[in-house]
Amino acid sequence: MKIDILTIFPEYFDGPLKSAMLGKALDRGLLEIRVTNIRDFTPDGKVDDSPFGGGPGMILKAKPVYKAAESVMAPGAEVIMLCPAGERFTQETAAALSGKEHIILINGRYEGIDERVAELLGARKISIGDFVLSGGEAASMVIIEAVTRLIPGFMGNPGSLRDESFIDGYVEYPQYTRPAEFMGLKVPKILLSGDHGKIEEYRKNKKRKVKA
Ligand code: SAM
Repeated sequence: MKIDILTIFPEYFDGPLKSAMLGKALDRGLLEIRVTNIRDFTPDGKVDDSPFGGGPGMILKAKPVYKAAESVMAPGAEVIMLCPAGERFTQETAAALSGKEHIILINGRYEGIDERVAELLGARKISIGDFVLSGGEAASMVIIEAVTRLIPGFMGNPGSLRDESFIDGYVEYPQYTRPAEFMGLKVPKILLSGDHGKIEEYRKNKKRKVKA
């Protein structure tokens, strides 16, 4: 999978993309992630202007964002614009996106991006929740983390994906590891019993339903 990130703060991604399993997947060539600075598509580095109609704050101008997208565009690419007003990102969205060859993530800042960019690119607007972030970068990282771990070969143990929260409308049961007692709190006896049937039943009962 190839992921292109368009941002006015490319340095934001320096740490997260190198960390943990994502960093390993990039090293192994399972993924390719490119970060493009939208400012490189302006003659003077100015990416924002005041909104038509008045109002507070600044808007990311259409031309540099569009030009940056054009520079990474390829047939079949899924163009996503991070936006609080977009469709809600879920585990289902992550699963569908994990099958894509190429994803382009466009990150807004300030009061957002000139609306014509989404229209011209046929971008899908996605929100990661009902709250407002200062920029799309954190939201892009949420999407990258959720999507890439579903790519075949990403997880060391693919079994981890089989019995996970949100797969079947439930969230996972509580988990424990050694020691069997910590600060007076004991691990449920059944988990130490070695009776796999009973353990499975216990875990099934501890799962919580999240949707009908
Ligand atoms: N004026 C916008 C509004 O009221 O909806 C908020 C703009 S926000 C300060 C700047 C950028 O952060 C947005 O363009 C978007 O890219 C990103 N952003 C903020 N909240 C987000 C969310 N919940 N999901 C996805 N992206 C978000």
